[in-house]
Parts: sequence; structure tokens; C-alpha cells
Amino acid sequence: MSLKKCKVLIIGSGPAGYTASIYAARAGLNPVQVTGFEQGGQLMVTTDVENYPGFRQAIQGPWLMEEMKAQAEHVGVELVYDMIQSVDFSKRPFKCKGESTEYVADAVIIATGAKARWLGLDSEKKFQGFGVSACATCDGFFFKGKRIAIIGGGNTAVEEALYMTNHASHVTLIHRRNKLRAEQVMQDKLFNHPKITVIWDHVVDEILGTDAPKSVTGLTLKHRETGVQQHLDMDGIFIAIGHDPATSVFKDHLETDHEGYIVVRPGTTQTAIEGVFAAGDVQDKVYRQAVTAAGQGCMAALEVEKFLQE
Ligand SMILES: Cc1cc2nc3c(=O)[nH]c(=O)nc-3n(C[C@H](O)[C@H](O)[C@H](O)COP(=O)(O)OP(=O)(O)OC[C@H]3O[C@@H](n4cnc5c(N)ncnc54)[C@H](O)[C@@H]3O)c2cc1C
Repeated sequence: MSLKKCKVLIIGSGPAGYTASIYAARAGLNPVQVTGFEQGGQLMVTTDVENYPGFRQAIQGPWLMEEMKAQAEHVGVELVYDMIQSVDFSKRPFKCKGESTEYVADAVIIATGAKARWLGLDSEKKFQGFGVSACATCDGFFFKGKRIAIIGGGNTAVEEALYMTNHASHVTLIHRRNKLRAEQVMQDKLFNHPKITVIWDHVVDEILGTDAPKSVTGLTLKHRETGVQQHLDMDGIFIAIGHDPATSVFKDHLETDHEGYIVVRPGTTQTAIEGVFAAGDVQDKVYRQAVTAAGQGCMAALEVEKFLQE
């Protein structure tokens, strides 16, 4: 196993990781950034991004992440295509093991993000970014006056259904059980909303669409018990069945909450261990946006700078 020593190690290459590395490099900290196998993070699986400031027209998620990577390289970040497998945060310098390299660092920024849960259907994958999304805040705007379906029954699904009533002509919430897990106050709002219909006890069998142009036209549902199928015409489908933070490597070494998100001191990116910071979706289950992840990446780098000075 080879050894790589650095002042600051940044783990992850989504908006949080790249912003942290750009700030750390410009502060003269010569950061090493381990990109993970999903270089660029979650925005690599989306198409149009219209809410990242600085661009008058919609930009493509993968293009934005290529630009961030190019900027990081331009300011001298050392990028390593590797995946952290285990960590030792018991004393400084901290140790993080990759596939064949051990990284030894005075400070660590964890920016490993989260993964939206998907249903796992081939047709869902085919139309991802073309009518199928896992983020209503991000993509809801593209469905003005359209019919959309939200899949899920927890708080996120109900929040997204209510949010989508601002854009869509009609919202159908599809849940595989016969009651919601969301808070009662949210449920009341949902049931009383004139634009929302709820379909209980159904699972999505297939997402239907056209190839040219590539777009969603509907979905086939199956009753959970009887197996009876029904077809619905839809323009967009939002999968809202939760997220998994990428914290399996860290959860025995840092404080995490009951959903696995890394706990940070409020208003900072400081974790339970001095010198270990966490930025972006790995610690934020509220906002989950590229710009907030980038903002937290900036905070983490500034906090590392201060920490190393002290
Ligand atoms: C379909 C979809 C559309 C979206 N659209 C928008 C949008 O339009 N606008 C918007 O603002 N937001 C959007 N988002 C949300 C946005 O993508 C996320 O909020 C943002 O990417 C979070 O950034 P992050 O840096 O925290 O983590 P991520 O983007 O999740 O990146 C995590 C990084 O960590 C790496 N990693 C994970 N584990 C390890 C490990 N053990 N070792 C090394 N590296 C590791 C991964 O390879 C990846 O590079 C969308 C999300 C989805 C899923």
C-alpha cells in the first residue's frame, strides 16, 4: 500500500467536495481530493439544471461538474480517482485507506454526499432526466401545467406533492401501503388539496414513454395484493422514497443521526472529532441542493484553514 501525506484530504467530488478543494488550494493548503467512483456526484445523473446561479440558460448537470473539476485542477488540486474504504480518526494525523493508497492528513473534509433511492426499474433508469426525477425542488419547474406522479409515502413524498401543486396541473401521489408515514399536519394539507389525488396500495410496474423525443408519457401500476394493473397518463414522475447518506465508512467513527447523516455542530461543518469536517448532502437532509452543498464545501475549507492555523 502506498502512502500519501497531505495537510487536508477531501473525500468526494460533488459540488461540496470541489468547492472545498478549490478554496483549500487557493488558501495554499495543497489539498488532495479523492473523487470516489462516481466522479462529479449526483448531478451526473441529471440533465437540465436551471437553479445554479451564474447561468442565464439551463445548463447540463454533467457539464457543470466537468467545469468544477477543471477549476479544481486549474488551482492545483491533486485529484485521485479512488474510494475510501476505512478510516482511523482516533488520533492525528488522521488515516484514510483507499484501494491501494493510505492517505495521512492533518484535517479531513468528508463530502461523500447521499444517494436518492430509486425503484430499480429499467424503464425508470431509461427516463432519468427525461421526465423521471428524484428531486421536485430541482426539476418541478420543468412541469408547469403538466400531470405528474409522486411515488412514496413519507414526509419527503408529501412535501414534494404539495410543492408540485405550485407547478403541475394535477398531482397523483402513489403509495404502496394504505396509510402515509408523514406527519399528520402534512397529511391534512395533502388530503384537503384540490389538485392532489392519492392512490393507495399500488406499486409502479413500468414507466412508459417515447424515444423521440425521449420523454415520459405514463406509467403502469399494479395493486399490491390483487396484482390488477392500471395505466395512468403522466408527463413526469418523481421518485420520493428517501435518500441514503454515504456514511458507511464513517458511521463507527463519527456521530451520525438515526438516518445515518453525519452530525455537525450547528452553523458549522465541524463533526464530533476536531479536525474532521463534513459538508454537503452527507450532513444535510433538509436542503439537498448543489448550491447549498457548494456553500458548505466553502465553509469546511475556511474552517480547516482556521483549524490548521490554530
Ligand atoms: C436527479 C437529481 C437531480 C438534481 N437536480 C438538481 C438541480 O437541478 N439543482 C440542484 O441544486 N441540485 C440538484 N440535485 C441535488 C444535488 O445533486 C445534490 O444536492 C448535490 O449533488 C450534493 O452535493 P454533494 O457534493 O454533497 O454530494 P454528491 O453530489 O452526492 O457527491 C458525492 C461524492 O462523494 C463520492 N464518494 C462517496 N463515497 C465515497 C468514498 N467512500 N470515498 C470517496 N468518495 C466517495 C462520490 O463518488 C461523489 O463524487 C439533484 C439531485 C438528483 C439526484
